[in-house]
Order: sequence, then C-alpha cells, then structure tokens
Amino acid sequence: MSVRVRFAPSPTGYVHVGSLRTALYNYLYAKNQNGKYALRIEDTDRTRLVEDALDNLINAFDWADIMHDEGPFMKDGKLIQVGDYGPYIQSERLDTYRPYVEQLLESGHAYYCFCSKERLDEVRAKNKEKGIISGYDGHCRDLPLEEGKKRVAAGESYVVRMKMPENRELIFKDLVRGEVKMNTADSDDQVLLKADGFPTYHMAVVVDDHLMGITHMIRGEEWLPSTPKQIILYEALGWEMPQIAHLSNILNTEKKKLSKRHDSVAVEDFMNKGYLPEALINFLALVGWSPEGEEEIMTLEEMTEKFSFDRVSKSGGVFDVQKLNWMNNQYIRKCDADRLAKLAIPYLIEAGYFDAEGAEGHFEWVKRIVQLVKEHLEYMAQVVDHFPLFVGETVEITDDSALEMIKLDHVSTLIDALISKFDSAEAFDAPSVKSLFKEVQKETGIKGKNLFMCTRIAVTGQEHGPDLMESISILGKGTVIKRLKSVQKKYC
Ligand code: GLU
Repeated sequence: MSVRVRFAPSPTGYVHVGSLRTALYNYLYAKNQNGKYALRIEDTDRTRLVEDALDNLINAFDWADIMHDEGPFMKDGKLIQVGDYGPYIQSERLDTYRPYVEQLLESGHAYYCFCSKERLDEVRAKNKEKGIISGYDGHCRDLPLEEGKKRVAAGESYVVRMKMPENRELIFKDLVRGEVKMNTADSDDQVLLKADGFPTYHMAVVVDDHLMGITHMIRGEEWLPSTPKQIILYEALGWEMPQIAHLSNILNTEKKKLSKRHDSVAVEDFMNKGYLPEALINFLALVGWSPEGEEEIMTLEEMTEKFSFDRVSKSGGVFDVQKLNWMNNQYIRKCDADRLAKLAIPYLIEAGYFDAEGAEGHFEWVKRIVQLVKEHLEYMAQVVDHFPLFVGETVEITDDSALEMIKLDHVSTLIDALISKFDSAEAFDAPSVKSLFKEVQKETGIKGKNLFMCTRIAVTGQEHGPDLMESISILGKGTVIKRLKSVQKKYC
C-alpha cells in the first residue's frame, strides 16, 4: 500500500514554526516513501475562524517550498483544490460526516446528549471543586436511542457524544515513541457532533483520514491524549487505523515549550526578517531529527533521502535562534548574487535608500554591496545596517582612535596622493584601485596601517569594514574624491 500522509492544520492566522516542522516531516516521509502528501484544512471550529488564514498558510508553505501534492492551492489569486479525495477543507465536507455519526448512534457507540450549557457548567464547577479535570459525567449516556430520536424530532437542541469504554487499556505503536499505553478511563465522552451540526475534530479527523486513505498520521505530541478516542472510533467504525507518529514539542533554549509570548514562533516573522526558506527548513528539520553523519547543511533532496522515524527524537528538539542564524548565514554566503540582491531590495526601499519605482536602476549597486557584506548577514533585514557606508559625500569621524589616526602628520600628503591617482585613473574596479594603492605606496613611502587604515578612515569614517578596494570601487571615483577632500578639510 503506498504511503499517504496529511498535514491537517486548523488555520489560526499565522503559521507556527512547529506546524511548519510537522508539515516538513510529513513531506519528507511521503517523498522518502514515494508516497503522497495532502494538506487538509480542519476548520470545523467555527469560533476560531480567522480571515485570510488559509491564504497565509498556503503562502507560507509556498515560500518554504514544502508543497503538498493534494489539497488547496492558490492559483492566480483563487483558491483551487487538487486531488482525488477532495474537498480538502472540512467545512466543505459537512455532509460526509453525518452518516458515520448515524452509524455510531445505531451501533451504540455514540449517544444523543441533551444536557444544557448550564448543567455542563455545573458539572465542570463540581469537578473543579473535587480537583477532577475530565469533563462530562455521562448523564445522557444510557438514554435509549429511540427516546433520543424522539427528542431530536421534537426540536430539542442536542449534541452527539461517543461512548468511551470505561476502563480499557489501549496499547499502540507510535513511530517516534515506541509502545504507548493509555487507558480509556482518562478520556471522557467526547462530543462528536456539535449543536451547530458541525463535527468536532475527533469525528472529522477519523472520517477524513479513513476516506482519504491516510496511512500515517504524523502530528504534534499535543494530540497524543486524543489518540485513545480515535482508536475507539476506528474500532467502532470497523476501519483500520493509520500508523501514528507524535512529534515532540519544540523547546526554546531554556528547554521550555516555544511560546508565542516569549519566542519568535511565526513563520511569517522569519519570512519578514529575510531568512532564506531553505535555511529555515534545513534548521527545522534538525530540530528533533538527527540524520546519520556529521553534515548539517543539507538540501531538501538530501533530507528526503535520509529521513526516517528511527532518528526522530522522543525528547523535545531545541529551537536555538543562534544556530538558525549561523545556518542562514551559511546559506546566504552560498546564495546566488542576483537572488540575494532581489531579497535585499525591499529592506532598502523600506529604509528609504530609494523608491520602489526606481529600484531597478539600483540593482547592480545593491548587488555589489550585498556581495561585499553578505558574510556578515544573519538574515536579509540586517542588510540595511551596511548601506550607510555607501551613501553621502562627506565623512563623519566620531571614534576617538580613528580621530587620532586621521590627525597623523602624513595623512594630508596621503590624501593628496590618493586624490591625484584616483582622479587620473581610467579604470576604477577593485583590482585597478589596488594597483593605484601600490603606486601611492611607492611614490609616498606610506605603507601598512598608515596607508590602508588611514585611507579607510578617510573614505568611510571607520577603522574597520568590508574589503577596502571593493568599497572604494563601489563608491566610485567622484564620491571617493569628494569624501577625501571633506576629511582633509575638516580633520587634517
Ligand atoms: N487539526 C489538528 C491541528 O490543528 C490536526 C491534528 C492531527 O493531525 O490529527 O493540528
């Protein structure tokens, strides 16, 4: 039987990095097994609906290039659904669930419940007093089906609950955790069909996984407590249960579960800061999975080839932003120059370096600077920190030791020599600038720090910075000469 997996998020308006990792492991496993990966939208909780959540979700996966084979896609701004098992959006499948709810009622695995909200609140309050967490007290559990039907026909508001066995030990195999034992006594009689006619997650997930031919459920560990309910539902419906893998939580560096309040968790944040998607994916893959071998930088294809659940950790993986930054920097260094320049441009527009309309005309300039500074970038938004050096025709020197150096006796002679060399130069690319320096050195006898650091300070105001020849070349002859003159006048 060929592998079919699904990632089944309830859209919340942003994509948590943990969700992206779950989607990624689904993707990697499916591809590794030559199987299919479906995206299914679990939107049956109408109280939690968020506008544009689906667009955001698809957009994030598109950005990360972790695309599903089946499910909803955006095409020319429109939502389409692809695959033989659709619709892949649960709110469009409401008619699908009803017959199975009926089946469970008829077979005695589920029952009508007419308890009012007030009664349920009372039960909850009493439970709380006694320190019991579990919810429903089984008040309607033994109501005969025929009586239930009559009350429904009479128009009474109801839900349908599953009848959990009272005390049954369930043992199942989890691909990450090994053998897991749980007792049905820890689960109450879950609502399957709500008063609004919508199925709950538990009902819908079982029906959909079955009808969509899902062979493996790969999901976060927060769903582990739901597993007994789902096992019982599969049994009651007479269906074979898919295999299960529960992925451990992602932890922060303090070993606490990543939280929206304290940590950066939204994929959109990483997107906006200019992380390269392939770096984030590579990093996330290793949060909880350690493939054989030392190499950490891997392409998606390499990860796909190596992926297996044997090496997915039972304990939570750590989301260490410093490591992510290191990895992203590795990817930035290797990234294609044009692509990097394109990625840099929006940040420069936002910082006011140029307007969006004129951006095209700055492309080569941006590209050269980005190439020059890329090894210092942890993410692309940082690019703006490196641009002030390349604008303006005057230089401000504020640092004490730089001021001390620029005031040395030889500097004025050096600046004169540089200006005359630069002025008459025909070529001004970095190697040409380098030979001009050699000539200045020969003619003036100024060398080493006195030559290079003093020039750097005169041209950029700083003692240290990116490659000097390339920086001078990028600035261009005119600007460099103006800067040298301004420094000579002000400081020498
Ligand atoms: N809709 C659930 C979620 O929001 C899916 C859980 C599962 O994969 O079974 O994560």
